Amino acid sequence: MVRRVDDWYQYTGCVHIHTTESDGTRSLAEVVALGQEVGLDFMMFSDHMTLSNRDAGKEGLYNKTLVLVGYEHNDLNDHHHYLLFGSPRVYDADMTAAQYVAAGARDGALGIMAHPDEVRDALKNHPPYPWDDWSVVGFDGIEIWNQMSEWTEKLTRFNQLAMVFSPRKSIVAPTDRILAKWDEISLTRKCVGLAGVDAHAFGIRIWPFSFEVFPYKVHFKSLRCYLLFDEAMSTDFEKAKAQLYDAIRGCRLFFANERWGSAEKFRFVGECGSETVVCGGSLASEQNARLMVSLPTRATLRLIHNGRKILETVSHELEYQVSAKGIYRVEAFKDHRGWIFSNHIRVGC
Ligand SMILES: [Zn+2]
Ligand SMILES: [Zn+2]
Repeated sequence: MVRRVDDWYQYTGCVHIHTTESDGTRSLAEVVALGQEVGLDFMMFSDHMTLSNRDAGKEGLYNKTLVLVGYEHNDLNDHHHYLLFGSPRVYDADMTAAQYVAAGARDGALGIMAHPDEVRDALKNHPPYPWDDWSVVGFDGIEIWNQMSEWTEKLTRFNQLAMVFSPRKSIVAPTDRILAKWDEISLTRKCVGLAGVDAHAFGIRIWPFSFEVFPYKVHFKSLRCYLLFDEAMSTDFEKAKAQLYDAIRGCRLFFANERWGSAEKFRFVGECGSETVVCGGSLASEQNARLMVSLPTRATLRLIHNGRKILETVSHELEYQVSAKGIYRVEAFKDHRGWIFSNHIRVGC
């Protein structure tokens, strides 16, 4: 449900959802109905190497839920998974990552690196699908946190049953490696960080039983993205879509694991004189600039400046007088588990 935050309109939804058009287990219509039951304002679907749901006219506003269909591209080695939204077509399967990232940028599509940080080697049937080539140019953002990916990273031969029965327990936080990479890139340009559920609800067989791992609704109650629009979401689909892409590209986004509580009331703003910005925004100067954070409930709150933690406190709010130029973002942890992560506010740069 839309929420007014200062002058902004805040919407919540999930990114990176699979359907039966690739390796998911429910049709788009069924998954949308599940998302609506848990109050999603937007849902971004990305099946592997197909836009068949979009071709079938399934993008649109479903009552008040904005449903967008992109796809997930991978290279011939099954590395460099890349979410593309708004591309004119599925690009050629034999392209390199550099080629499909560039093609997406040329065609004005939104491009997000998916689960770039996978390193696992514990199970033969679950190889990692990492991002290797960081020299690519033209991507809009990075999936900093991927639910399936973190779950699978922790899977071993010995913990499979426990992992299947309590899937959300394995979700701790994005890795320090990918957070550092994101900060490094963001120092040079805008690069949105977001969380993807990577929902499939696939079955797993642990003889003699078979289970559904992460039903869609469990996903939708875990990793959420929140977007800030400067006007209410349009009732016209094309306009609403443009608003959503604009908010994502503009980094007006924070993401959260809602297992630890709703992030709806999270607020991170920068102020300088009469100027007020939310995450994704820039303040012209560090002179008299302050950053303000408030959390829905008390948690461990960290302020990160240019990739370095400069402050940590246990509180439900924080006010910080800025003294240095740079990029600032916020992390909140509950009992050492990642809860809320903001995009950056830029100050004097
Ligand atoms: Zn993938
Ligand atoms: Zn995926």
